[in-house]
Amino acid sequence: MGSWRLGAFDRLVWQRLLAATTLGLVGFLLNLAPIPLFSNIQLVLGNIVIVICASRLGLGWVLWCAFLAISGLYLAWGHPVGYLLFGLEALCITLMRRRGWYLLYADLAYWLVLGMPLTAWAVNALVDLPPEYTPFTVLKQGFNGLLYCSAASLLLMLSPRGWLRTLRQQPILVRNFRQKLSHAVFALMILALFISLLAYTGHLMRIQQNLLHERLTETGERIALQYERYFQQHVDVVTVAGEWLPTTASAQRARLSQLHARNPGFITMLVTDNEGDVLAAAPGALFDGTRKLSVASRAYFRQVMATGTPYVSGVLQGRGFGQDPIVAISAPWFDHQGQIGGIIEGSLDVKRLLELNDINPAVHLVVIDDREHVVTASEQTGFAPLSDWRVNIMREGSDEQIGLLSLGVAAAPVADYFQHSVTLDNDWQLYILIPYRPFAQRAERQFLWGLGLLSLALLISVFLAQRLSRYLTWPLELLAKEVAQTGDGHTVMRALPRGAATEILLLRDQLAHQRNAIMQHQDELEGQVAARTQELALANKKLARLALRDGLTGAYNRRHFNQTFDSARQYSLRSHTPLVLALLDIDHFKAINDSHGHLVGDDCLKGLVRVIGEHFSRQNDLLVRYGGEEFLLLLPQLPYASAREQLDALRLKVAATPLTTTEQGLDLLVTISIGAIVASGHFSDEPKDWLNAADKLLYQAKSEGRDSLCIQDCTFELSGI
Ligand code: GH3
Ligand code: MG
Ligand code: MG
Repeated sequence: MGSWRLGAFDRLVWQRLLAATTLGLVGFLLNLAPIPLFSNIQLVLGNIVIVICASRLGLGWVLWCAFLAISGLYLAWGHPVGYLLFGLEALCITLMRRRGWYLLYADLAYWLVLGMPLTAWAVNALVDLPPEYTPFTVLKQGFNGLLYCSAASLLLMLSPRGWLRTLRQQPILVRNFRQKLSHAVFALMILALFISLLAYTGHLMRIQQNLLHERLTETGERIALQYERYFQQHVDVVTVAGEWLPTTASAQRARLSQLHARNPGFITMLVTDNEGDVLAAAPGALFDGTRKLSVASRAYFRQVMATGTPYVSGVLQGRGFGQDPIVAISAPWFDHQGQIGGIIEGSLDVKRLLELNDINPAVHLVVIDDREHVVTASEQTGFAPLSDWRVNIMREGSDEQIGLLSLGVAAAPVADYFQHSVTLDNDWQLYILIPYRPFAQRAERQFLWGLGLLSLALLISVFLAQRLSRYLTWPLELLAKEVAQTGDGHTVMRALPRGAATEILLLRDQLAHQRNAIMQHQDELEGQVAARTQELALANKKLARLALRDGLTGAYNRRHFNQTFDSARQYSLRSHTPLVLALLDIDHFKAINDSHGHLVGDDCLKGLVRVIGEHFSRQNDLLVRYGGEEFLLLLPQLPYASAREQLDALRLKVAATPLTTTEQGLDLLVTISIGAIVASGHFSDEPKDWLNAADKLLYQAKSEGRDSLCIQDCTFELSGI
């Protein structure tokens, strides 16, 4: 059984899967709770992980990471629009990053070109948001994208070197200093300015909401008090009137119109008998007593008759005396025996309730009765009296925070009103409403102003970053150019502009100093090299000379003879002149060595060379030390007779000239034997033939008793051939 091991490739795939999944899950958790700003505006931060993933890994992994992170948003928002917006964002920025874009710029481009138009479409088509909220939502989404992108970029800049390096699939971005600095400043400024803008706007919003909250609460309490007073006042009017009502119809009619005139809050008033038949009504014109009108079926009659106590109805539509929505307030009246004679009723004009709000005309009021019917409502709310109270309380108000409410039953993305409700004594609810939109608009305006300033600050910072980097790189570039130019033969480095950073000025001085030192050193080296070259040339010359000369006597050596013999022969051929080759040998030289020592022998050799040199002193005469005490003479342009004469003269001269002195101070005389041939260049082109011929003659001279010359004219021989 072989053990199974992960190959390098598999291991990388697993590690990438692990990295993308971990990042995705972190994003998922962050996105589960987007940070609420105001109204429907939330800050999405979990998408940071998508950007981080896109900076290192390939498209497949980024999309997987994005899927996980966006799923958190899906759960938080309840609709899948995030998959489209942010999935596409992940796709675009990963591909652009691969082409060498900075992620931040890629993201900016995405939101400008695709993201924001798509958001506008999605908000209108997929989310039930009032259209006036769209522009801001779209703008905010774009900035939100930039925010998490710059956060991710900064995190990446701060991350340890080589982080996720082995998993890297995206190329490393090679940028110059200006680009790097601008990018870093861009990211930093977006993050810093945006966060401070959010904090500042959030703070302002909270203050404004708190103020609103206080105002609503206060207004609510005061209006509620007025309402209760108003109701109580009218209940009292009816109750007291019931106790003191005259019993005759005409007196009742008179009393009723008197009461009605004093209490304009009642649209109408009526008095019935205990059967429910109307006896009197106000205003008088409504009822002249001739027709029969019964209210026996109405709750305000039956309740009072049943309990004997005053009664306040819910809101109801008036009948008989007009169709207005009214609140009926009724109380019993008593006859002389103290029995209930019937009821006295006043129909309270609910519209007048609104007029009671003289405290804060900006707020809207809705009063609903205990059956959830609208008693009255400010016109702007659109609620008709008697209609059902159909709203969606988005947030109950509490001591800490203001309540929110939207119209309609379905859950809405944004509120229509800030709300505060007070329960009245009769279990009715008084709702105080302030429209939400102006508040949101104010917030948007503040935010937009902030964004405008932020963009301006951003532009200025990027511009400054560019200037700063130029301040640094421009003198460096100049310096580099200078260094390069001085390499081309210019010797002096020019000064940098004085505005450059002192570090760079210092660097320039150092470089100039170094450069001078190098130049000086180079000059010295060049001088040394020239001197050495001259010495070397001389030495070479000497060496060449030495190589061709004999070390002891200074006569040429055999090598030189070998090199020059042929040219001498050629010359002889061309000029048709004879060439003499003579071999000279000192007689009994061994004996001189033996009797006087080698040093004397050496001096003797030197002396002989001197004598021969003096004797054959033409420029082309060549004297060669051919062996130990054997010399060779190569004499061009010397005819036989002259040769014979001159060689014999040499022999005699040597014999007569003391070559050196012995240790005893005596002159040392030697004799020489000479074998020589005189021939033309045709004789032979092989030097050994010439040498052999001369050697034979030398041998002959030795045999003839030494101190003699044997010379042979070979020119005739040749002409005979
Ligand atoms: P011959 O008359 O037959 O020429 O007799 P020789 O003694 O001159 O001839 P031999 O060839 O027998 O001796 C040559 C001697 O020359 C032997 C050697 O010691 C001597 N000799 C050769 N080269 C040098 C040299 O460079 N310096 C000295 N001092 N002696 C040398
Ligand atoms: Mg010899
Ligand atoms: Mg000899």
